[in-house]
Amino acid sequence: SLFSDLSLHEWIEENIKRAGYDRPTPVQKYSIPALQGGRDLMSCAQTGSGKTAAFLVPLVNSILQDGPDAVLRPTTGSGGRKKLYPSALVLSPTRELSLQIFNESRKFAYRTPITSALLYGGRENYRDQIHKLRLGCHILIATPGRLIDVMDQGLIGLEGCRYLVLDEADRMLDMGFEPQIREIVELNRMPPKEERVTAMFSATFPKEIQLLAQDFLKPNYVFLA
Ligand code: AMP
Repeated sequence: SLFSDLSLHEWIEENIKRAGYDRPTPVQKYSIPALQGGRDLMSCAQTGSGKTAAFLVPLVNSILQDGPDAVLRPTTGSGGRKKLYPSALVLSPTRELSLQIFNESRKFAYRTPITSALLYGGRENYRDQIHKLRLGCHILIATPGRLIDVMDQGLIGLEGCRYLVLDEADRMLDMGFEPQIREIVELNRMPPKEERVTAMFSATFPKEIQLLAQDFLKPNYVFLA
């Protein structure tokens, strides 16, 4: 099978070629059509399987296809604060993984109007992250704790977030992020699962992950072992 079989926007196909990817890996071959078709996904893909592109390619492609009218414009609240509404949110356990996802997203979004932004913990880069966030963020890649900080300041709204990815979900739970993840997904006006596309990636599939999948994914989700 080939990337050209996956009915991707020609800009994305070009960017995939530029990245040097000849053929989709197995997880990409099955995830891309599922997510493009609006199905949710639970995938047990490991690092090295190409899982990052498996969710980023359909994400960038879907946002492009939805067009600019589907994107919520920034608003200015009382106090002159600009509030941004990303179309897609990728939650990841660590700064390192978030950075990798961000770099990969820039490859696929190259020469498209789609922008990504990055939020992760640590004092030194806080102002810089907020500054870059304001330049645009169709796709927000974030660690849960820092995202909540920024949302509490009223800088981000999730009302327009039609795509949600939980990468390395089992690791996020091991690190104790479940309350933060649930706060982000369930208590912050993110569209309900019926109105968004959600993908979960997890190397293992223990009871806690199954429960999270039950709560976050539509019942007909695709399970990829
Ligand atoms: P990941 O599993 O997402 O961490 O990806 C592992 C590595 O494989 C990364 O360096 C990717 O850039 C690379 N990669 C992902 N998909 C492909 C592909 N279809 N062909 C060749 N390399 C790929």
